[in-house]
Amino acid sequence: MTAGKRIAVVEDNRDNRLLIQAIVEARYQLVEYATGQEALDGIRLAPPDLVLLDVSLPGMDGIEVLRHLRADPALASLPVIAMTAHAMRGDRERFIAAGFDEYVVKPIVDEERFLATIAHWLAVAPARGATRAR
Ligand code: MN
Repeated sequence: MTAGKRIAVVEDNRDNRLLIQAIVEARYQLVEYATGQEALDGIRLAPPDLVLLDVSLPGMDGIEVLRHLRADPALASLPVIAMTAHAMRGDRERFIAAGFDEYVVKPIVDEERFLATIAHWLAVAPARGATRAR
């Protein structure tokens, strides 16, 4: 069951946040952050079960946010899904190499596929969490 799972969305675009909210709110608790710094502060205080992270953020970008998360032993194995509006050849490989677990292209048009991706990484997380301090 997905009850009680918390998802953090880090996205500076309000319309994109609203879209994600509309897609996931029936299934998950959603915590929203508009900047990378806000997200790091909030996530450290109350780690979610999964993070949806916009790559293009003002100031600290998504890659840097990810780097901070992966450098924190308590958050290093948190599932983090990159979101980007500009799909280019090789993006997926680049984002996976950067340490993201998955990569989705915005705008999200296939809601079921998006939800399946989230469900997949939520299901995978506990197994990896064997080494995670909780
Ligand atoms: Mn953005």
